[in-house]
Amino acid sequence: MLVVMKMEATVSEVEAVVRKAEDNGLKAHPIPGAQRTAIGITGNLGVVEPTAIEALPGVLEVLQVSHPYKLVSREFKPDDTIVDVGGVQIGGRDLVIIAGPCSVESYEQTLGIARRVKAAGAHILRGGAFKPRTSPYSFQGLGLEALEILARVREETGLPVVTEALDIDVLDAVAEYADMVQIGARNMQNYTLLRRVGQCGRPVLLKRGMYATLTELLLAAEYILDQGNGQVVLCERGIRTFTDHSRNTLDISLIPEVERISHLPVVADPSHAAGKRNQVLSLSQAAVAAGADGLMIEVHNAPEQALSDGLQALLPDEFDALVGRLRDLASVVGRNIPTFASSA
Ligand code: PEP
Ligand code: MN
Repeated sequence: MLVVMKMEATVSEVEAVVRKAEDNGLKAHPIPGAQRTAIGITGNLGVVEPTAIEALPGVLEVLQVSHPYKLVSREFKPDDTIVDVGGVQIGGRDLVIIAGPCSVESYEQTLGIARRVKAAGAHILRGGAFKPRTSPYSFQGLGLEALEILARVREETGLPVVTEALDIDVLDAVAEYADMVQIGARNMQNYTLLRRVGQCGRPVLLKRGMYATLTELLLAAEYILDQGNGQVVLCERGIRTFTDHSRNTLDISLIPEVERISHLPVVADPSHAAGKRNQVLSLSQAAVAAGADGLMIEVHNAPEQALSDGLQALLPDEFDALVGRLRDLASVVGRNIPTFASSA
């Protein structure tokens, strides 16, 4: 249910609506807007009569929301959400580029790549500490040591960092070290983890499950917002189809659909979609042309020796060229790739 307040509604009138909902065992989520405040109400709505809320002072109207997702929808919040990751804003006019290795392998490797991607124009550093690997015998990530490396590299370069929280056991550590917590494709429907990440106090990069529909992705995000964390960025990273020319299929049409239905920013990960480096530039351009708010791209200084995803990693020089091409395209579609004022 969405309670739309009158433009002149007072703070105490908003509070009275919140109290009424909470007294009925429901959750109230005030959403201040440019024009007026709305209050999203979630929970078992059967217990409260809309007319009881409609009658409260300051209330303009009470709307029933037909979609299963509520807090993530534009119906609830018409204005775009801007997600702040250590000072980098995702969801505005600026296109944000997240880049780095698939896995943190050592301090030297991570720092070397971070310096190169920053010089090329990246805004946020990625690097896996806890890796979701298909085989239990593959490299599983350096764990806590990798989190410490990421924090040191942030210190050196000034780049905020994003890394995956593979399970609840490591979530607190990831939230302590990282500027943004990634929920991987395989965990998109891990509802216990989603609830907990909604309480962790950090912005979240939520990757689309490889078999998930847009509705399922939005409902996964809803779990996080329902816990009071509105700082969520959605990530299209490719879905399983019958193709054998790429690892996954980047579902470009999800991008404009998210924009239409939801106020949350959406970024694309062409690296995990392609699975091979020769497709990364084209998919990046396609995602930007379709309106993505940013990109996440894997880069490695020695891809043939990478401990994970070497085939899809760009060399630093290739990444540099890619950002150059994207700058030209960004201006055509009314976006901008900001350059860092400082350098490290
Ligand atoms: C990753 O970004 O490192 C990753 C494992 O991606 P995904 O969860 O999309 O497979
Ligand atoms: Mn990877």
